[in-house]
Amino acid sequence: MSRRNASHGPMTTAIHAGESPDPANGASAPAIHMSSTFVSGDVSGFSAHDLTPDSPYAYARWANPTTAMLETKIAAMQGTEECLATASGMAAASAIFFTFLSAGDHAVISDVSYAGVGELARDTLPRLGIEVTTVNMSDPAAVADAIRPNTRLLHSESPVNPIMRLTDLAAISRLAHDAGALHSTDATFASPLGMDTGALGVDLVMHSTTKYVGGHGDAVGGAVAGRAELIRRMRLEASIHHGGILSPFNAWLIARGAATLPLRMKAHAAGAQAVAEWLQTHPSVTKVIYPGLETHPQHDLAQRQMSNCSGMLSFQVGDAATGERIAQQMIDRFEVIHYAVSLGHHRSLMFWMETAGLMETSFRLTGASQEDYRAYAGDGIFRMSVGLEDPEDLIADLDRAL
Ligand SMILES: *Cc1c(COP(=O)(O)O)cnc(C)c1O
Repeated sequence: MSRRNASHGPMTTAIHAGESPDPANGASAPAIHMSSTFVSGDVSGFSAHDLTPDSPYAYARWANPTTAMLETKIAAMQGTEECLATASGMAAASAIFFTFLSAGDHAVISDVSYAGVGELARDTLPRLGIEVTTVNMSDPAAVADAIRPNTRLLHSESPVNPIMRLTDLAAISRLAHDAGALHSTDATFASPLGMDTGALGVDLVMHSTTKYVGGHGDAVGGAVAGRAELIRRMRLEASIHHGGILSPFNAWLIARGAATLPLRMKAHAAGAQAVAEWLQTHPSVTKVIYPGLETHPQHDLAQRQMSNCSGMLSFQVGDAATGERIAQQMIDRFEVIHYAVSLGHHRSLMFWMETAGLMETSFRLTGASQEDYRAYAGDGIFRMSVGLEDPEDLIADLDRAL
């Protein structure tokens, strides 16, 4: 069930959720509590199992007021009961996999996903006795075929990095629940505001908060949002035992960015739409993939599932040699856009991703999976994170380089 819009609108929620004036001194802005330990008023237990929602702060690996402020804010924006902040997006993925999967279990994950998450699932989980099947999650029938009696987790990503292919999250949630499994999704590209994941039946939503939530390219972090019972299990395992907690300083920076997320996402989407439409008219560009374009193969699903198409788009320029040449021209000629990995920042970022290389290193797709990937990416794509600059300046930069 979705808990979105319980009392306030999204802009008020992004600004005020988790925060209040400091009761000690009236400070309007939240404090940064750089404290690893907390003075205790009574003689209490020292096991993770002693933690209850009403426990006072004891040690920062269990909970910290600044980190808790960010967790409340993200949970409110995502419309879930609770949220766990983690040291990075990868720590968020690890928190999900290592809390809810054990030796003998089976997981189904998207064959195309953020490379680090894909490698963690394909390389590390099997080493621990967890079976993993990778499928094209835009095809619910393929997901249904992959489910086994011991399937415990379906992990999707939408839109997927780097090709902007979408997953029908409601369909995958139904398949997961019919099989008695959880459905976790990586919604980093959509941001917490892009999809009403609660209404789509998603159990756990992860974000690299390094990206849109923080939004300014200055702090690495991650988060998983979901039902209280699931988040508490992750807090016990992933934070207290595995230890991948977010620093209070980064929590403060990311919360400061999160306060303007609704405004930023509107501007990212408007900028991306303008850039995507311009790219479609450019003679050097052979294909543009953006969920907000009618030419996106899943534009209908985008309209059903996404209230904001975000600032992520990809485009092709022909074969790999042409792509490489244009990538070099971008490095030489861009005046505004940064040629760099990562995404979701106020600064626009661009990166060339050649298909053959990705197939050998991160993705290792074969057969139908590779054909499906090439249907979107051809021999390679430019992945662009459209920032918050004036779209005309981004278009001028692109025109210089293409
Ligand atoms: C960046 C990213 C991650 C990993 O996040 P880090 O904060 O870099 O650890 C995971 N998933 C997606 C979709 C990402 O873009």
